[in-house]
Amino acid sequence: MLRPFKATGTDAMSSSDNKTERTLADLGVTQPDQVVSLFAEVRARFDSQASRPLDHPSWEILRQSWLGRKSGALTLITENWLKAASPDLKRSVGQELNKLKAHLETTLDERKLDAQSLADHSVSIRERVDLSLPGVIRPIGSHHLIRQVFQEIEDIFFSIGFSVVEGPEIETPYYNFEALNIPEFHPVRDDMDTFYLDLPKGAKTPLLLRTHTSPMQIRTMEKQKPPVRVIVPGKVYRRDNPDATHSFAFHQIEGLAVDTDITFCDFTGTIEYFVKQFFGPSVKTRFRPSYFPFTEPSVEFDVSCPFCGGTGTASGGGTCAKCKGAAWIELFGAGMVDPAVYGFVNYDAKKASGFAFGIGIDRLAMLKYGIDDIQVFFQNDVRFLRQFP
Ligand SMILES: [Zn+2]
Repeated sequence: MLRPFKATGTDAMSSSDNKTERTLADLGVTQPDQVVSLFAEVRARFDSQASRPLDHPSWEILRQSWLGRKSGALTLITENWLKAASPDLKRSVGQELNKLKAHLETTLDERKLDAQSLADHSVSIRERVDLSLPGVIRPIGSHHLIRQVFQEIEDIFFSIGFSVVEGPEIETPYYNFEALNIPEFHPVRDDMDTFYLDLPKGAKTPLLLRTHTSPMQIRTMEKQKPPVRVIVPGKVYRRDNPDATHSFAFHQIEGLAVDTDITFCDFTGTIEYFVKQFFGPSVKTRFRPSYFPFTEPSVEFDVSCPFCGGTGTASGGGTCAKCKGAAWIELFGAGMVDPAVYGFVNYDAKKASGFAFGIGIDRLAMLKYGIDDIQVFFQNDVRFLRQFP
């Protein structure tokens, strides 16, 4: 490969062989034909230098050494040969000098274009994209399993006309308890002990981390007249000690449907639709009476164990480990909205009716994907996360 000519010193591309620094008389030139051959010599030296590959800096050095105003060869020749020439040689020196000058200028212009295209070429080599090289592999993340289950459940409820609302994780006791029919000193508050925020002295109301997504029932009904059909996905907090089934932070989806003529049948039908969509069409549901302060009647929903087909017996014989032989698995609590709650949001309790439910996302995810420790959701161990791409 040709390498661009690089000047390593001033004499590397010198135009001078000392002859240009001497006069014609010193050189013993007395005849016009001697002038012609002297100029031919100079021209040959220039041609040899200009024929090397040039990049822009070496082209500039070449130009300076030949056309430079102070010490370029042309200047020296003008000073030493032309001006000092005897009258009978002046004419031929002048002619040769003009020819040489024209030749230098034309050649240098051409070589300048060459130097430019050489530079362009090396830039294009440097910047050329080699499509055969392996690309930069950036690992692509995925949604956390909890987020995936949220999405799955949201999609099911979207398909039957619910929409999503979200609310604050820091709540007032009014929204978290009182407006949900849980007055101070109600025993249920013991089950929902939570974290209170350190507030500056003189703060009017205490603030706490919500223990459930239910405060959004109140906030939604305050803003919106019936019909209301919303689900509320989000994080909730309780003062639970961490173990395989407890965490101080976990996830819920609250659901609320209120209209003028919603019946208990609408309620159980909706829940059953959801459970079959989530666990598959072969599961059965049942409900047992339960108690929540803000629903009346309240129920606990169970699903027939999807792992043993609701038999309580594992496929290899023996007791099903998932339902411990019970054939049913507890899912979540729900109920018809307690008319007392409507009083807090200025709904007419005689006309309004509806139902609410609170689904524990972590529990559902553990059930569906066979996870036996809730803590793995919060440890962010990629070995676990990679199993749910
Ligand atoms: Zn089972």
